Amino acid sequence: MQITTLASGSQGNATLVATDEGTFLVDAGLGADELELRLAVVGVVPKRLAGIVLTHRHKDHVRGTRDLALRHKLPIWCTKRTAKGLGTECRKRLRLLPAQGHVPLALRTTLRTMRLPHDAPDTIALVFESNGVRYGHVTDLGHVPDGLAALLAGCHGLWLEFNHDRALLLDGGDPPHLKRRIAGREGHLDNDAAAALLADVVARRPASLRHLWIGHLSARNNREDLALAAARVALGDEAAHVQLWIASQDVPGEPTSLRAATDVGTH
Ligand SMILES: [Zn+2]
Ligand SMILES: [Zn+2]
Repeated sequence: MQITTLASGSQGNATLVATDEGTFLVDAGLGADELELRLAVVGVVPKRLAGIVLTHRHKDHVRGTRDLALRHKLPIWCTKRTAKGLGTECRKRLRLLPAQGHVPLALRTTLRTMRLPHDAPDTIALVFESNGVRYGHVTDLGHVPDGLAALLAGCHGLWLEFNHDRALLLDGGDPPHLKRRIAGREGHLDNDAAAALLADVVARRPASLRHLWIGHLSARNNREDLALAAARVALGDEAAHVQLWIASQDVPGEPTSLRAATDVGTH
């Protein structure tokens, strides 16, 4: 399995998940033209995508979905309530996902979903499984729900929202209603809460996780060094075996291969 981030942050999110059965675009939160440019940078032809998989209906996750799907005749995998935000032209392209459950995406590729607490209906966490490799993609959640750490345990790669530093958010210049929304139970995950989830995940299944993407960083209310430090502390002894990546808003990341972690102790 190969993971490539194309964009992450409040201006738009998109990540490629490639298995040997096809390449899926997780969220299409930039305009379609910009998505096509970034796909070209990483050598992916849009019409060869196996489909678009959406986490939820907020603009920074769906902005280019309609145009990209219609231009290139791509399937769109999402929950029924996310589909409501896409417009009727997309109806023929829809493949519905359960908010909680699992579906086959291809012969040997399965997608597991779990509902997340966020202020868009049926926001979901995604876990891709293919040929014994697991990749978890978790973004836009106000707090960590029961069962999420268990779902993510054993993932070889994990993309996790480290949205804000609580002190920076509270001391910052955002209007009070926005601060309340971001910090609320259905808002976004702060560094400490993301780190606590990460610690729980690696404690349940040590020696599986090899790559961690730190995503959806707030440009105003977070700093890369704070998020990285929180992640490192959470990983503890595991940190030596986990490559940390910051998912950038502006430039695609390096395509990164995930393997089942049979090589404990090496990198
Ligand atoms: Zn978002
Ligand atoms: Zn959102």
